[in-house]
Amino acid sequence: MTRVVVIGAGIVGAACAVELLRDGQQVTIVEPGEPGGEQAASYGNGTLLNPSSVIPMASPGLWKKVPGYLRDPLGPLTIRWSYLPRLWPWLHRFVRAGSSPAKVAAIGRALRPLLDQAPERHRRLAEEAGVGELITRQGVLFAFPDRAAFEAEALAWSVRRDNGVKWLELNEDELRQREPALDRRYRFAVLVEENGQCRDPGAYIAALVRHAVASGAVLVRAKASGFRTEAGRLRAVVTDSGEIACDRAVIAAGAWSKILAEAVGDRVPLETERGYHVVIRDPGVEPRYPVMPSDGKMGCAMTPQGLRLGGQVELAGLEAAPNWQRAEVLLAFARKVYPGIPADLPRDRIRLWMGHRPSTPDGLPCLGSASGCPDVVHAFGHGHVGLTAGATTGRIVADLIAGRAPETDIAPYAAARFR
Ligand SMILES: Cc1cc2nc3c(=O)[nH]c(=O)nc-3n(C[C@H](O)[C@H](O)[C@H](O)COP(=O)(O)OP(=O)(O)OC[C@H]3O[C@@H](n4cnc5c(N)ncnc54)[C@H](O)[C@@H]3O)c2cc1C
Repeated sequence: MTRVVVIGAGIVGAACAVELLRDGQQVTIVEPGEPGGEQAASYGNGTLLNPSSVIPMASPGLWKKVPGYLRDPLGPLTIRWSYLPRLWPWLHRFVRAGSSPAKVAAIGRALRPLLDQAPERHRRLAEEAGVGELITRQGVLFAFPDRAAFEAEALAWSVRRDNGVKWLELNEDELRQREPALDRRYRFAVLVEENGQCRDPGAYIAALVRHAVASGAVLVRAKASGFRTEAGRLRAVVTDSGEIACDRAVIAAGAWSKILAEAVGDRVPLETERGYHVVIRDPGVEPRYPVMPSDGKMGCAMTPQGLRLGGQVELAGLEAAPNWQRAEVLLAFARKVYPGIPADLPRDRIRLWMGHRPSTPDGLPCLGSASGCPDVVHAFGHGHVGLTAGATTGRIVADLIAGRAPETDIAPYAAARFR
């Protein structure tokens, strides 16, 4: 039996822990916060399990838009001036990563295996943890003002098609019948039926970690700060409350993984793409489908707590205080998507949240053995798709630690690609 320390209990760490236990490994989870708690990106995301999310954030021509991002503090993507000098090396790579259709297509091909079976895999994990009802698969609507707006995204949809994503095109009438809650401004939509939702990601992760502990894992409330190695082999994970002796370790600390990766030989340009959400309790509308409105750059979905709108990208680092105006942007847009939301919503029905997407410039995670110590496995950097990709990532990590060949080629996820 191998003693494995999993660092971080977001969706990635939680899925790794469950999959490692399935292989009979001895698992310790190190997490300073509450598993499933608000500190993690996994708590507050858009809830979508989208195998169709194969498109990186960076797209051809992005560099032309950067000055605008710097000027507009409330656009869908903003950069804080004060953070620009530190961000520059990442930003440069980010813009380059999506600078041609061929690069976007290559990223799409590399992402798809992490996403394509996600709803089923999450469903199985959730059922095992006793919360199967949290994973649904009703499809996700991508709503557009008209067909021309859809066609303006031709590159993204052709990359999706090339990766086996199928969709149903809905004209105005069909859209109205499928989703009456949506504003009449949307006159065209595509329904991606393979997409799904985790209705309550925080509750799901908490359940996965409870299940892991019930299956023999130990949960240590601590913050990992590094590793103790001897002759290149891992001896212990070092935490703020002492060392944990182990044979293998998994870095799954989301946006906080950079320093840990560096300690085992990999300098990774990992950034936080800060995102926000708004949850409206009793929103006065009952959307049937999760929706991605093309003009809003956000995900809208019902959760047990209310209607959640998640989105925005703010490049401002891990430390800066949230700019809650950005969540207010989401709130204002909610009414443009669902006109049935009352204009005079009492403030106590609204909750705001900010969290950290762990993002590499090319939108692909770091997944595989660390360069400086093969006993440590990287499992971070899933950016905008980590909730979806978490289940398959857990399986791949368990394969690597068991010495099995993963079912997917993991070469595109090597941390060494950033050297
Ligand atoms: C607004 C928003 C919307 C999103 N929408 C979607 C979506 O609809 N679908 C989708 O697939 N993805 C979505 N994402 C992305 C997704 O949420 C993330 O990619 C994913 O949650 C990352 O999971 P993680 O486990 O790597 O990191 P996290 O969930 O951030 O977990 C990392 C954990 O590590 C812990 N940690 C940190 N430092 C240490 C340390 N030193 N030692 C031990 N533990 C540590 C933290 O406390 C935390 O609990 C969205 C993200 C945001 C912000």
